[in-house]
Amino acid sequence: KEKIFERAFGIDFVVGPSDIDKIPEIIKKISGKSLYEVKIWETDGSLRPENIYHTGFHADEKHSYVVISEGCSNFCSYCVVPYVRGALHNRRHNDILKEIEEAVDKGITSFTLLGQNVNAYHSEVDFIGLLKTVGKVKGLKEFSFLTSHPRNTSIELFKAMAGEEKLKKILHLPVQSGSDRILKLMNRGYNSRFYLDLVQNYRKIVQGGILTTDVIVGFPSETEKDFSETYGLLKGIRFNSAFIFKYSPRMGTAADKLPDDVVKAEKERRHKLILDLQKGISKAIRHPRE
Ligand code: SF4
Repeated sequence: KEKIFERAFGIDFVVGPSDIDKIPEIIKKISGKSLYEVKIWETDGSLRPENIYHTGFHADEKHSYVVISEGCSNFCSYCVVPYVRGALHNRRHNDILKEIEEAVDKGITSFTLLGQNVNAYHSEVDFIGLLKTVGKVKGLKEFSFLTSHPRNTSIELFKAMAGEEKLKKILHLPVQSGSDRILKLMNRGYNSRFYLDLVQNYRKIVQGGILTTDVIVGFPSETEKDFSETYGLLKGIRFNSAFIFKYSPRMGTAADKLPDDVVKAEKERRHKLILDLQKGISKAIRHPRE
């Protein structure tokens, strides 16, 4: 905490994501003081107060993002989210519905339910229960959700997606790797067979549903064989689109302790290969007759 003030001289205060409601109070405290006199570090709050979600501000006239949960308890080995955002915390069901109803009253009709691990939601109802009640909000025209973890994805979720008329048939389901060895090192909690079965069921139950994913190439110790399994998985599944990332270590994570041994040029080569593959697939899906 001292370091941040030392390294960036002009900083007056630092506020953690759970303490953003304290910003006005802090500004009041420092106003009138001479420049750089007061240094305030505020990162103790574990939960955002509920009123922070009801600001009435919407960047888009017709669409709004609704945070249903914060943080994540999964500890994927490469990811910093559980350290910086804390454990999974679910907002109360009624609070979420209230926020959506208030936004509908302001003319917003489209919503995206957000969570780092959105389908792990569990409060008075589980995630499927939440989807069902959100779908019944009067005046709401359509909604979707982001980002799902394969471990919390089930046939029941697909059935709910198929049955909820207002729920968009879009599933973003990060696979990260096609190699079971790498998936284990990543601590993702599933293997490629499990993921492939999910995809098969999704396509059977949510007919015509869009499927997108995230992939990391160049994870520590990723061999040519591991990479070709990822390449083969993407080629076989044919996602509508995919975000491809080159691995880079995040301080304090489990993967940070592994040697970052796939050299930059190789990461770039793998990244380009997957990107080109996916570009071709996405284009062929968009323009099937070309
Ligand atoms: Fe959680 Fe996603 Fe990070 Fe894994 S990658 S720890 S699921 S936020």
